[in-house]
Amino acid sequence: MVIVMKPRVSKEEVRIIKAIIEAKGLEVNLSKGNTYYIIGIIGDTSIIDPNKLQALKGVERVMKVQEPFKKANRLFKPEDTVINVQDSIIGGGKLGIMAGPCSVESEEQIVEIAKRVKAAGANFLRGGAFKPRTSPYSFQGLELEGLKLLKIAKQETGLPIVTELMSTDYIDTFVDEVDVIQIGARNMQNFDLLKQVGNTNKPVLLKRGLSATIEEWLMSAEYIMAGGNENVVLCERGVRTFETMTRNTLDLQAVPVIKKLSHLPIIIDPSHAGGDAYLVEPMAKAAIMAGADGLMIEVHNDPENALSDGQQSLTPDKFEVLMNKIKFLAEIVDKEI
Ligand code: PEP
Ligand code: MN
Repeated sequence: MVIVMKPRVSKEEVRIIKAIIEAKGLEVNLSKGNTYYIIGIIGDTSIIDPNKLQALKGVERVMKVQEPFKKANRLFKPEDTVINVQDSIIGGGKLGIMAGPCSVESEEQIVEIAKRVKAAGANFLRGGAFKPRTSPYSFQGLELEGLKLLKIAKQETGLPIVTELMSTDYIDTFVDEVDVIQIGARNMQNFDLLKQVGNTNKPVLLKRGLSATIEEWLMSAEYIMAGGNENVVLCERGVRTFETMTRNTLDLQAVPVIKKLSHLPIIIDPSHAGGDAYLVEPMAKAAIMAGADGLMIEVHNDPENALSDGQQSLTPDKFEVLMNKIKFLAEIVDKEI
C-alpha cells in the first residue's frame, strides 16, 4: 500500500502517519521528491483500513500495490534511481558502459584491455575472477589472484571494477576490494547471497536468471533492497528459449517493462545474450534505443585464445567502433556517458 501525501504537507503530518503505521508492526518506506512525499507500507497491509488512512490530515490518495515487490516498485519511489560509483554514473540520463574480458587471465591482459576500453569510452571495467562455468573441467577463474589483477588495472586506468561474487565466503573481501558486486544469472535466486549483499552498501549488478520472469527478477532485487541496500542495477543478459541459433534470447522488452514497474536502472549484456561477437553491435545499439541505462560488453585482446567466452568477445578495435556509434545514439535518446 502506498500513501501519496498532499503537496507541501508538513513534516509533522508525515511523522504522525508513519507512527500510526509502525505502531501496527508494519515497515514504512519514505520517499521524498521536490514536491511530494510518498509513504510506502511494507508488510501484511490487510490489517490496515485504507479508508481510515484516507481520512487523515495531509493524505491525498491511498493506493493498493498489486505487485509483490515494494522497495523496487516505482509506486514507492517515482523518480529513477541513479547509481554513482566514483563518478561513473548509471541511470538518470547517464549510461554505464561496463567492458572487459569474460575472465581475468593475466596482469598484462587485464591492464591492456582496461586501457583500451577506457580510451574507447567505457566507464567501468568488468572481468571475472570467480567464474560460474557449466563444466567443472573448464577454467574456473584466477579467483583471489584475479581480484588483485583487477585492482592493478583500476590503479592504471581509474576505472571502477565490476566482478562476480559466487560465494558468501568472500563477501568481506568483495566489499573491501570491488566497486560493483555482480550477482550472476545462475545465482539470481541464491537467496543467502542476495541477503548478504543486501546487508552491505556496495552497488550490486543483478543479472537476470537464465529462465527467470521479470517479476522473479524484481523479487531478487527486493531481497537485496529489503536488507537496506538500495544500490541495485538490473542487467538483462538473455533468457533461455526454444531458439538454438543464438546462445540465449535477448529480451529487450524487459527495458520498457522494468522502466514502467521499477525505478531501478537496467543495463543490457548483449555478449552473453547472443553468444557470438557479430550479434553484439546490433543488440547494443537496439538496447540504447530501447532506453537501457547502459551496457555490459565482453572485450578481449586475443579472442581466439581467450580462456572463456572468446567467441562472443569483441576486439578492442571493434569495441571502439561500437562505442563511437553508441555515443552518437546516446545523443539521440538524450543521454550521455
Ligand atoms: C559474466 O558476466 O561473466 C557471466 C558469467 O554472465 P551471466 O551470469 O549472465 O551468465
Ligand atoms: Mn562471459
